[in-house]
Amino acid sequence: VMASVTHLQKDKLRLQEELLELQGKLAAQENNELSLSLQLQGQVETLKAKLLEQAQEISRLRSELGGTDVEKHRDLLAAENERLRQEMKACEGELRELRRQQQAPCRDCPHLQENAGLQEQLSQLQREAEETRAKLVELDLEVQQKTNRLAEVELRLKDSLAERAEEEERLSRRLRDSQETIASLKSQPQQIKYIIKTVEVESAKAKQALCETQSRNQYLQEQVGMQKQVLKEMEQQLQNSQKTEAQLRAQIMMYEAELERAHGQMLEEMQAMEEEKNHAIEEAFSRAQVEMKAVHENLAGVRTNLLTLQPALRTLTHDYNSLKRQVRDFPLLLQETLRSARAEISQAIEEVHSTNRELLRKYRRELQLRKKCHNELVRLKGNIRVFGRVRPITKEDGEGPEAANAVTFDAEDDAVLHLLHKGKQVSFELDKVFPPQASQEEVFQEVQALVTSCIDGYNVCIFAYGQTGAGKTYTMEGTAANPGINQRALQLLFSEVRSKAADWDYTITVSAAEIYNEALRDLLGKEPQEKLEIKLCPDGSGQLYVPGLTEFRVQSVEDINKVFEFGHIKRVTECTNLNEHSSRSHALLIVTVRGLDRSTGLRTTGKLNLVDLAGSERVGRSGAEGSRLREAQHINKSLSALGDVIYALRSRQGHVPFRNSKLTYLLQDSLSGDSKTLMMVQVSPAEKNTSETLCSLKFAERVRSVELGPVSRKAELGSWPSQEHLEVLKTLLGDSPGSAAPPGRGHASPSPGQLSSRSASIRRKLQTSG
Ligand code: ADP
Ligand code: MG
Repeated sequence: VMASVTHLQKDKLRLQEELLELQGKLAAQENNELSLSLQLQGQVETLKAKLLEQAQEISRLRSELGGTDVEKHRDLLAAENERLRQEMKACEGELRELRRQQQAPCRDCPHLQENAGLQEQLSQLQREAEETRAKLVELDLEVQQKTNRLAEVELRLKDSLAERAEEEERLSRRLRDSQETIASLKSQPQQIKYIIKTVEVESAKAKQALCETQSRNQYLQEQVGMQKQVLKEMEQQLQNSQKTEAQLRAQIMMYEAELERAHGQMLEEMQAMEEEKNHAIEEAFSRAQVEMKAVHENLAGVRTNLLTLQPALRTLTHDYNSLKRQVRDFPLLLQETLRSARAEISQAIEEVHSTNRELLRKYRRELQLRKKCHNELVRLKGNIRVFGRVRPITKEDGEGPEAANAVTFDAEDDAVLHLLHKGKQVSFELDKVFPPQASQEEVFQEVQALVTSCIDGYNVCIFAYGQTGAGKTYTMEGTAANPGINQRALQLLFSEVRSKAADWDYTITVSAAEIYNEALRDLLGKEPQEKLEIKLCPDGSGQLYVPGLTEFRVQSVEDINKVFEFGHIKRVTECTNLNEHSSRSHALLIVTVRGLDRSTGLRTTGKLNLVDLAGSERVGRSGAEGSRLREAQHINKSLSALGDVIYALRSRQGHVPFRNSKLTYLLQDSLSGDSKTLMMVQVSPAEKNTSETLCSLKFAERVRSVELGPVSRKAELGSWPSQEHLEVLKTLLGDSPGSAAPPGRGHASPSPGQLSSRSASIRRKLQTSG
């Protein structure tokens, strides 16, 4: 700080010097200007003098010539004069300006702040120094006081010593006096004694004088004793004073030592304080320097920052302004947008509404059309379709001429099959014929349309007909590796139902039953031996049902497999020879599909009956007896009853003998008017089976020629909530009078008059075209 102070002082001195210098310069300049102005004034003076002279000259000349040249000259001179005056003015202005500049203090100087800071520091340091100095003065004062006190004590001591010395002197004087007196007194008595003796001897007078002397002597002796006493006291006093003196001396020494010590301590303290002061000053100075440096650095950083920030600030301000504008405009914009969006949305909703209405209308029309088309298609194909399937020759057929192939096919027409029977070729035309190499899949391809129509609410029957060993079970059940129609149909139903799950709720249930010797048994029930009865629904609907027939709800292929396995186990445990038993019993798998259209509330129920019929071979010929004969009679009865029913349906007889067998009775509602039937006639190609094959094919042809009534969907009225739904139903069922009948349909097939005019016209066309 001292250094900086000295430095500052130096600066100040330097500045003062500079100031002085400048002042000197200014003075010089002023002098200069003064001289210049003086000079100018002198010039002006001379010019004025000249002017005067000229004027005089002019007047003189004018007086002489009255001349004009002189006037011109005068004018020129006047101009000159004016110019000079102007010049002088400018010089004066300059002078003034210079003065003003010198007076103007230095403002906004960057060092000013620095200087102020330093001055601040300086004043602080000065304050500190002042404080220290004050402390020092205090300490000095203290020392002074102590010294004064010491001097006082010394003075007092001296005084007391002097007193003591005086006293001593006095006492020793008195002692000396007393001794002298004593000595004088001592020397006196001998004289007295002598006198006394002489006196005693001489006279009484002398005796009196002696007495007097003696009394005087006594008095003197008393006085001596007194004097001795006083001396003793004096000696005592002296001793006391000597003791006191020694004590005082010791005290003085002590005081002196103390003083010395205090002095030393004080000196030390002063030293320490000095050091402390120096240290503090140094520290403050270094701190101030560091801070100064940091402040400088900060300042530099801030300056650069400021420089870089300025453009950013500019852009930010710009952005901010634009944002502010946007924010101000935002609510308006938002409102506008919202309004337009609302309008758009309501418009869109309106559009969607109208589109929806339009779509619903189209949907209804399409439904109607689809139904019509379907009906027409079925009509074109025939409600009873008959397929033939020829199994391959197997090992069981043996060898030789008996196992020769008796069946050939038409390369052009897949519906034609030729049988070589007793040397004659008989041809049969069915709806389709599957050769031995046809796979299970190919067969199912032809069947699947029927299966899916069951989802739409149609009843469907698929029969496998044929002699034992012709492949009925293979076609219906198949093998585990190559499943037949049963499993494939259920799989298809599942996938169809899944694909329609968005609009429809479907439940699929399965039942399995067998008819043996005209007795109906539940293959999935707890009591397989129990004979089940077929009964009319008690609700008066005219529908049939089998009380106690087990229904399993199935949802996946795994469920079906379980059901099939269960059914097989039932059959196996019950019979010793499954093949033989199965050849004499009808096996039925009844799949019921119930659907609910969620959007319209329409309910549908479709039944798919998959029937593996008993062997169609004629038994009676070989002269069977007893139970075998009864079995054969039952089989023949039920198969011929099936034929009769189909025939009656085909020929539209008033009475259809459904009740003639358990099978036809049970399948009554799946065979009558609105249902579809597929008869898969299985034949063996072996030469030895040709007569049975012939019978089967004849049966097939007979069945094929029969036609069922108009097909209608079994639509039921659900709980219709509105007029709209009723209209939907009307449009759905509108031009199909047969299907508009109540759900509980009678046994009789619908009359031809109930057919729609359109389908009738199509049939007419077909008939005329042959
Ligand atoms: P059914 O049930 O009519 O008595 P099966 O279905 O039991 O006759 O068939 C008898 C035999 O012929 C079985 O071994 C079966 O595997 C075989 N079979 C039947 N049809 C075919 C076919 N299309 N392809 C291969 N083998 C078949
Ligand atoms: Mg079989």
